[in-house]
Amino acid sequence: MNNSKPWILASDIDNTLTGDAQALRQLAARLAAKQARGMLFLILATGRRLEQVLNGFDAEGIPEPNAIISQVGTEIYLPPFAPDTAPLPEWDTLLREQFSRNRAVSFLSGIEGLEMQPAEYTTPLKASGYLDKTPSPEAAVSLIRNRILEAKQEDAYQAIWSSGRDLDIIPSAAGKGKAIRYLIQFLTLVSRRVVVAGDSGNDRTMFDEFEHGIVVANAQPELTRLGDETLQPGIYFAKQPYAAGVEEGLRNFGLLP
Ligand SMILES: [Mg+2]
Repeated sequence: MNNSKPWILASDIDNTLTGDAQALRQLAARLAAKQARGMLFLILATGRRLEQVLNGFDAEGIPEPNAIISQVGTEIYLPPFAPDTAPLPEWDTLLREQFSRNRAVSFLSGIEGLEMQPAEYTTPLKASGYLDKTPSPEAAVSLIRNRILEAKQEDAYQAIWSSGRDLDIIPSAAGKGKAIRYLIQFLTLVSRRVVVAGDSGNDRTMFDEFEHGIVVANAQPELTRLGDETLQPGIYFAKQPYAAGVEEGLRNFGLLP
């Protein structure tokens, strides 16, 4: 194996990196040392808005990445990072081609108990609601997915269900996994291996797209079901939660000593 090529770690933030501040401090220091030596290309892939990611560097000890994928994989940002940095225009244009936000909202209409998310999570490429007050969130998710199928729009729209609460309609071409794949090709990154890390349903597309992944011990059932559905030998189910679980997984993959 050529050790001169960097690894790529693409990690979710909330309840994957965050949740145990001390464990995150230790992990962040180890990742920063690898990045400084050109041995690691770190991607943060999150449902957060860009500004919430940037605030987290100081406020929460979130490691400074080489790229940020935000809003559930509908926006990609490259350094230098600032609150007014524009998302990667090539990715933005590609996603807008097939996606109408009004159409996306229509798949959510009339769902009993569904609340739309506040305006800051509303973008031209994402229609998002909360399902935790619906009588049966799972039934609501099925209904929404069936609406997309019945409209024969599954190539343009997908419903991402996460944390027992968040429902996002985003372009089928988007999502964390596809955004990471696009970024790797866009930057023509050559790596030894891509490892993804996550805890909930909106991380699912990363595990679908890449063979090697870390599921932290505190993961939500919608993600741990990964282990039941198919044998995925490349997925490491950590015994520890949060950042300690990510570090345990990276050690398992030989990225950290
Ligand atoms: Mg998370």
